[in-house]
Amino acid sequence: MEQLQKRLKEMDIRPSYHRVKILEYLDKHRTHPTVDQIYEALKKELPTVSKTTVYNTLELFQKEGVIGNLTISGSETRYDFESKAHSHFMCKKCGKIIDIEKVDCPCENNKIIKGNRIDEVHLYFKGICKNCLKEDR
Ligand SMILES: [Zn+2]
Ligand SMILES: [Zn+2]
Repeated sequence: MEQLQKRLKEMDIRPSYHRVKILEYLDKHRTHPTVDQIYEALKKELPTVSKTTVYNTLELFQKEGVIGNLTISGSETRYDFESKAHSHFMCKKCGKIIDIEKVDCPCENNKIIKGNRIDEVHLYFKGICKNCLKEDR
């Protein structure tokens, strides 16, 4: 908890109780939850928190670079405690999204492709995760 407070202070974000709780949830659940999942999980513990607060907090964190986000499946935004560049693996069977180490991409940052400058590369893989592979056997 203290470490998360420090992380927010370093980013010039006032570490209010709700904010720290939301960040703590993301730290404990590295499954890239959606705003709905976070809200549903936190409202029991924080009855005064609204979905708008959760959403606004996540947007603030993301804007300030405290957390990352990804939109792999459809339009749903999922939030990611890890803000550094890394790759993702999405299981087609259970829908889980797992962090994997950054895989080097031939199009490195700041390369120009057909006149367009690349700033970010988001890489994700789809397949069957190891748990589902085990169940199949
Ligand atoms: Zn799976
Ligand atoms: Zn991730």
